[in-house]
Amino acid sequence: MLYDCVIIGGGIAGTQAAIQLGRYSAHKVLVIDSGYGRSSICHTYHNILGWDEGVTGEYLRKTGRKQAEALGAEFLQDTVTEAARDGESFVLTTGTGKRFAAHTVLIATGMVDRYPTIPGLRDTLGYSVYICPDCDGYEIVGRRTVLLGSGEEGSGMAVLLSERTPHLTYVNHEKAPIDEKLLLHLRKLGVDYEEQPAAEVRSDGSGNIEAVVLEDGRVLEAERGFIAFGGNHVRTELAGQLGVTLESNLHIKTDPRTKMTDVEGVWAAGDISLHSELTAIAMGDGMQAAVWIHKRLRKIDNSG
Ligand SMILES: Cc1cc2nc3c(=O)[nH]c(=O)nc-3n(C[C@H](O)[C@H](O)[C@H](O)COP(=O)(O)OP(=O)(O)OC[C@H]3O[C@@H](n4cnc5c(N)ncnc54)[C@H](O)[C@@H]3O)c2cc1C
Repeated sequence: MLYDCVIIGGGIAGTQAAIQLGRYSAHKVLVIDSGYGRSSICHTYHNILGWDEGVTGEYLRKTGRKQAEALGAEFLQDTVTEAARDGESFVLTTGTGKRFAAHTVLIATGMVDRYPTIPGLRDTLGYSVYICPDCDGYEIVGRRTVLLGSGEEGSGMAVLLSERTPHLTYVNHEKAPIDEKLLLHLRKLGVDYEEQPAAEVRSDGSGNIEAVVLEDGRVLEAERGFIAFGGNHVRTELAGQLGVTLESNLHIKTDPRTKMTDVEGVWAAGDISLHSELTAIAMGDGMQAAVWIHKRLRKIDNSG
């Protein structure tokens, strides 16, 4: 089956692109999604236009998918494991052995955050424990906040967060080394420092953090939390297979106007691209990529 566009990843960027491509009423579009991304983890986005009370990633994914399907886009739950060029088009193979050909490919596979399994942590993510200071620094203003992190990655975050609250404790959960000067700097900023694993994140059952319990049994009360462990994984394996150039931080640099990568016919959008990792930007990327994918598809149609 030859599709006009196969979108790999049905998170925020991929779904938005599917909606826009669907609105041209002319293209055969398939979204292949393995079903779990950063937008599945975040319980509330607080910084999106029109959602003053916040909105969950799951809600955006579900309603976005319905919108795209109503416009003719097909969705398949599967994982693309191989991507290759085949003449003027591309062939994508999934984990279940299915193969799809496409005139164009949009890679919107996002990233995976690294964080250790700490009982109770997952339930609080996006509700009261955050990842991104640009998104949620506002949520901790003046509040007692515990930052769970690792080494210098966590220290860097502690420096940023100390600008938003004077009640900040940094728990270096993995006891990774930190430069003495940096530790001194944190102390000067008034950040409390703990170097031992967290045994549990306590919450009220509705996602609101109440405390972090340390391995030695001490309880650090908390109104808000943050995590910063570093080592997040950018899902660029498929882009690599297609010959797309990756930046040193493993994200993909796209053309600022078209969002196309340096491989003709291959686009990238969302967190996988080189920019701030934000939902509204992922939407914008997906939208912009779709507009330019459409332009290319029109050329293919007109030359056929
Ligand atoms: C806890 C948390 C809180 C956040 N809070 C905010 C916030 O408040 N405000 C904000 O703006 N942003 C926030 N973000 C960031 C936001 O979630 C991301 O910017 C957004 O999800 C990026 O969208 P995306 O489409 O690029 O990736 P994702 O939403 O991660 O979607 C990628 C999709 O690709 C799929 N996929 C990956 N590989 C494959 C493959 N090989 N085959 C098929 N499918 C594949 C995955 O299953 C996934 O569904 C937060 C993130 C986290 C984790």
